[in-house]
Parts: sequence; C-alpha cells; structure tokens
Amino acid sequence: MTISVLDRTEAASLGQLHDEAERVDEELLPCRVKNPELWFAESPADVEFAKALCQECPVRSLCLDGALERREPWGVWGGQLFLQGAVIPRKRPRGRPRKNETAA
Ligand code: SF4
Repeated sequence: MTISVLDRTEAASLGQLHDEAERVDEELLPCRVKNPELWFAESPADVEFAKALCQECPVRSLCLDGALERREPWGVWGGQLFLQGAVIPRKRPRGRPRKNETAA
C-alpha cells in the first residue's frame, strides 16, 4: 500500500469530513444552514437545488471523495446524486414511465 492510497482512504473518512467542516464557518456549509431534507428529497427539483447549493461548499471535494469511498446508498453528497453507491445524473420522478418513451 502506498502513501497516496493511505492519504486517500483517510481523506475519505466521514470523521475527516466532519473535522474539516468544523474548521470552516458553519454559514458556508449549505447543508447545515438550509433544510437538510433537500439533500435527501424525493422531488427531482429539490435534488437539483441541493446539488447546486453544494457547488459553493468549501468542503465539496472532500465530501464527494468520502461519499464515493463509502458508496453512499442515497442522497446528495459533494454536489452529486448517489443511488446505491453510485453517482447518477438525475433523479427520476416517481411513477411509471410514459408509454411513448422508447426503450434503448
Ligand atoms: S458538499 Fe457535502 S458538506 Fe457541502 S453542502 Fe454538499 S453535502 Fe453538505
């Protein structure tokens, strides 16, 4: 194992994210000052809003690295939407697909 692997693993820990977040003004962390439910919202519009809010977050890259490492099961982390441990481009609205949607 190399030092860089160790560094990445350490950087990805949730504890390190919390430590880093403690060093910055809480007002700069969108998920601490806005409604935290936005980051786990059902509505695709709310999810996109949370992703946009993350873009200005000072710990965004650390947050994203950690979420990737932990394979977060769901929610917005580091400006990306996770589902079952993977980043997905957008949340699909609930319900059945339209009849006129063509299969790929
Ligand atoms: S990047 Fe992470 S810590 Fe920052 S607002 Fe988004 S979810 Fe919260």
